[in-house]
Amino acid sequence: MYHACHREELETILGDQELKLLSEWSLKLPKHGLWDAPGIWTGLNYFHSGNYYGPFLISLPLAVLNGRHFMVFRREGDDRNRYFFVQYEARIPIYSFEKTLWRSVKPTSYFQSVDDGYAMKPGAIYDIVLTEPMGIDDVKIEAVKHPYCISKQCSGLTRSDGQEILQEIAEDRENIMHYRNVRRATPDRYIAGGDLSTARKYGSISKNWQKLKNHPCAIAAYRESIREFPNERFAVIEAWYQMGLLYQRRGQFYRAINAYDQLIQNFERSARRLEGLYQQAICYRAIWEYRKAYENVKAYIKTNYPETKYFQEAQQIVQQMERDTDGDGYMFYQEQEARTSDQDANDYPRSFQR
Ligand SMILES: [Zn+2]
Repeated sequence: MYHACHREELETILGDQELKLLSEWSLKLPKHGLWDAPGIWTGLNYFHSGNYYGPFLISLPLAVLNGRHFMVFRREGDDRNRYFFVQYEARIPIYSFEKTLWRSVKPTSYFQSVDDGYAMKPGAIYDIVLTEPMGIDDVKIEAVKHPYCISKQCSGLTRSDGQEILQEIAEDRENIMHYRNVRRATPDRYIAGGDLSTARKYGSISKNWQKLKNHPCAIAAYRESIREFPNERFAVIEAWYQMGLLYQRRGQFYRAINAYDQLIQNFERSARRLEGLYQQAICYRAIWEYRKAYENVKAYIKTNYPETKYFQEAQQIVQQMERDTDGDGYMFYQEQEARTSDQDANDYPRSFQR
């Protein structure tokens, strides 16, 4: 789902951390006549030669619409089909259709089925009007070519103009934050080096986005740094590690685990790899993969660097994992993995060898 806007709007959105209701919408309902409601238009239109609504594209996954109620209607034209979704909230009266207030619609009549869900029908136009503000936790913000301005807020921008503005926004925000002294300075974690400096810029962009509390953009910057500079070993290591942490903090444990896997499998001699082992264990534990968590922490400790960052914590975790409170011969982690109780000797996992 896309929403395009100009600089001021974007800054407001980032500041508020949500898409606010920007305009008044009028609906003519069959029973109740004309009805006004505040809303925000978020469309799904593609402009192949650039975006006519603004230089910034905020993409939200369709899944953010899950659990919301919509009035759905469709206009079939000879050029392309147009689908309208207007979020239903209490401000709009309910009208009935053939005496039923609610009716489920088949997603397949509005979207195309794809492997992991639904996608837009090719060539169709989607109008989605939200009548409740929408958080921007999962958004991706990118600069796009903006050759023509429907709202006449500008005379058009190239993609790189837009990008520059995006960058400026991040820097502006950083200055503001700095000025307000809300955050202490981030210690420089990078090793200085010629070619590395460009790759490192992604790191600072990402840090900027993190300061904006925009984690999807922060993650995207690291992803881009890996794609653009796959041979900058140190930057790549740092990117995977930071991505892992970002996912982990957002509770996206499977993605965090994958990011740490990249570190663990590809960078044998790296301090970050070790930290990745430990962090991955924490993620495994969070999703009840106790056996893997245990193995990771053991591997972490085996490296025998008592000075490593999480050595004490790791030792404590191992102690906890190896505890056998009910004395049934199964360790805590084995009982957890099998969802049995470590308080009851008659409840023990059958899948583990005693
Ligand atoms: Zn414009």
